[in-house]
Amino acid sequence: MAREFDVVVLGGGPGGYVAAIRAAQAGKTVAIVEQGKLGGTCLHRGCIPSKALLKSAAVYQTVKHAATYGVDVPESFLRFEQVKQRKQDIVDGLESGIQHLMKKGKIEVFHGRGSILGPSIFSPMPGTISVEPEEGEGELILPRQLIVATGSRPRPLAGLSFDSEYVLSSDEALDMNALPDSIVIIGGGVIGIEWASMLTDFDVNVTVVEFSDRILPTEDQAVSREVARQLKKRGVKILTSAAAQSDSFKMTESGVTIDVDRNGDKTTLAADKLLVAIGRMANVEGIGLENTNIVVENGFIQVDADFRTKDNHIYAIGDVIGRLQLAHVASAEGAKAVEAIVNGSTTPLNYAFVPRCIYSVPEAASVGLTEAEAKNAGMDVKTGMFSFNGLGKARIEGEAAGFIKLVSDAKTDDLVGVHIVGPKATELISEGGLALVLNATAWEVGQLVHPHPALSEAFGEAALAVDGLAVHA
Ligand code: FAD
Repeated sequence: MAREFDVVVLGGGPGGYVAAIRAAQAGKTVAIVEQGKLGGTCLHRGCIPSKALLKSAAVYQTVKHAATYGVDVPESFLRFEQVKQRKQDIVDGLESGIQHLMKKGKIEVFHGRGSILGPSIFSPMPGTISVEPEEGEGELILPRQLIVATGSRPRPLAGLSFDSEYVLSSDEALDMNALPDSIVIIGGGVIGIEWASMLTDFDVNVTVVEFSDRILPTEDQAVSREVARQLKKRGVKILTSAAAQSDSFKMTESGVTIDVDRNGDKTTLAADKLLVAIGRMANVEGIGLENTNIVVENGFIQVDADFRTKDNHIYAIGDVIGRLQLAHVASAEGAKAVEAIVNGSTTPLNYAFVPRCIYSVPEAASVGLTEAEAKNAGMDVKTGMFSFNGLGKARIEGEAAGFIKLVSDAKTDDLVGVHIVGPKATELISEGGLALVLNATAWEVGQLVHPHPALSEAFGEAALAVDGLAVHA
């Protein structure tokens, strides 16, 4: 027998579980199928554990430099076991919270690997889900509407598999028993840079190898430059325009070596471990897509503006569709897919207004267009920049490096991009997001009286700086 539900969600990450809650709130009967733990990559291997470790690294550095604040701390020790335990406690607490939400919403959770079956005696359409638990009997679930939210996994370097010991993905790095003395990180994108920042603050010797000519290559040039400058100041070696040669990889008595090619110049890097952070692959295999009409292109499930696949009753959201691989995007897409299920269609999700955050030290965050993107789009561009160095609150916090940069369209004065490097950038960016959503001009943002002393004052100053009117610059 197959159990029937209005909505079944395959995958319990931030895309899937939020979709399940939204569907339950709309009065649907809902089931969610999860092979691992509710919360997915974000809660167990991504956003939350990595930020918990980054916080411990920041506290360690603050304590080491406590004398700067006039506080005498005779000695500080890093207890990595306790750092990991704190991280785990945070993750476990949040996972219980999601379990509670599932109960509250009367959402039935099926534990096991789900795959989509083709037309069967239960339904003339593809979509019946077979759930195979690790132990015990399998079950069949019949969804009226199915949402695929199976997420993604780390991409290995071609020809070099992850081995949990010497060649690590970001998943495996979270499970390290002890900190290495040295590490080579392949990939200077968001994940690589967050790990570089955290590990250098844990006193690990870090080298970052980035294929592009700058780290964080999708960010505004000024952001890449400032984050790189700050990391280098803390001892991180950054090799840009550098291609790691996986076929040169060797295990040695003390760790690993790998060759890096920089425009024909070969360098051999040696370290205790290698962390590969070159992107993520969508989980499209082994879930029965071959039994459906779903189209996969470039490794991602293709959907329309309502997140509907080529099978009208099957939707897909989150990392598996690969639009912007972020937790808040997966959740927003989940909510939109449910809106489409309930109302027949949904209002489009405007990806241009989604903030992108990097939780390194210093933090970086952006929303909208970079200066180069705005110029490439044919805009006459004006920018306003204000340095945190000119701000009392940033100096009080002991974090005066970085800036807020606003990009506006000179013809209309409309803000089109906001880029922040510095203290609490990932919190401050929401003011930029709101300004973009409300289609505000730089002048309008400059009219808001910001509190003093506060980091957000930099926002008002950057807005005034667009017309050369910043006060403290
Ligand atoms: P996932 O979170 O990957 O969840 C998919 C779920 O589906 C998993 O639980 C999986 O077990 C389950 N599943 C897969 N196949 C099956 C199957 N056949 N049957 C049953 N269950 C299945 N994003 C941010 O916004 N902010 C951050 O700070 C951030 N930091 C990150 C740091 C790291 C190190 C990493 C790796 C990622 C980070 N991300 C961050 C990205 C974020 O984690 C993902 O974008 C987000 O988790 C995607 O959500 P999702 O629901 O699409 O997929």
